[in-house]
Amino acid sequence: AQPLLRVEDLTVRYATAVGSVEALKGVGFELGREKLGIVGESGSGKSTLGRAILKLIPSSARLTATRLDFMGRDLRNLGEAEMRLIRGKQISMILQDPKYSLNPIMRAGDQILEALAIHGETRGRARVIEILKAVRIRDPERVYNAYPHELSGGMGQRVMTAMMLVTNPLLLIADEPTSALDVTVRMQVLAIIDDLVTQRGMGLIFISHDLNLVGSFCDRILIMYGGRIVETCRASELQNCRHPYTRGLLQSMPSIEHPRDVLPTLKRDPAWLRGN
Ligand code: ATP
Ligand code: MG
Repeated sequence: AQPLLRVEDLTVRYATAVGSVEALKGVGFELGREKLGIVGESGSGKSTLGRAILKLIPSSARLTATRLDFMGRDLRNLGEAEMRLIRGKQISMILQDPKYSLNPIMRAGDQILEALAIHGETRGRARVIEILKAVRIRDPERVYNAYPHELSGGMGQRVMTAMMLVTNPLLLIADEPTSALDVTVRMQVLAIIDDLVTQRGMGLIFISHDLNLVGSFCDRILIMYGGRIVETCRASELQNCRHPYTRGLLQSMPSIEHPRDVLPTLKRDPAWLRGN
């Protein structure tokens, strides 16, 4: 079967006041209808990768790739108007903090209604209530009428998830969607995303700092360091990952059998990175 996404030699360079920053350096991977986790420390290029797939990078940034295919379609030469049709409709993105993604002066339900209308769905309020129920919101009427600041973090994240799913996307990119939530609520939101992705046979790119979380939630994991993918492994084989950076991440995860008082630190510029 054709993969959903095929990326080859993807490089993104940001122009800044103090020169250019190469945030992605020759990244390549394929994605099927699976849950792919992307893990790496802050600044390793995870969000840039998520945004590059949607070509949502600043106009001053430079993106090059030998391949950037979604459903067999080359995205590299698509203009903004064509990309806008793909964004939201076929590929959706959930961001870290719903407060920044939801309109603060519009009721949650009306935002979903608007998203539906943009995509030509006119069944209105009843359909919104149905969607809120699909993300396991028990009191959809109340949530419909709430403004974003009146929602808890987990509830806001569910509304965001609902918004992203109104169009039945084939691929969902979730950039640290649960990092601001407490553990219980985080698990609930993950379970919702998991159900929807599995039921609909979607692909998921799940970006996180937390190797432990991604290891238990995703099928496959890409480890990023300094703008490169340094290791790819199946989540079930995480313990056998060989790359020194991955081993470092694994060792820094607290475990019940081997509790640690001191977290090991990672060397900043190890020889294996230079050789890449
Ligand atoms: P975090 O875990 O903190 O979210 P990340 O892995 O998502 O980090 P990116 O946001 O992709 O990392 O950033 C990768 C690199 O690109 C960093 O060095 C960052 O400073 C730089 N960068 C990101 N966005 C921009 C931008 N708009 N302009 C200039 N540089 C940027
Ligand atoms: Mg990020």
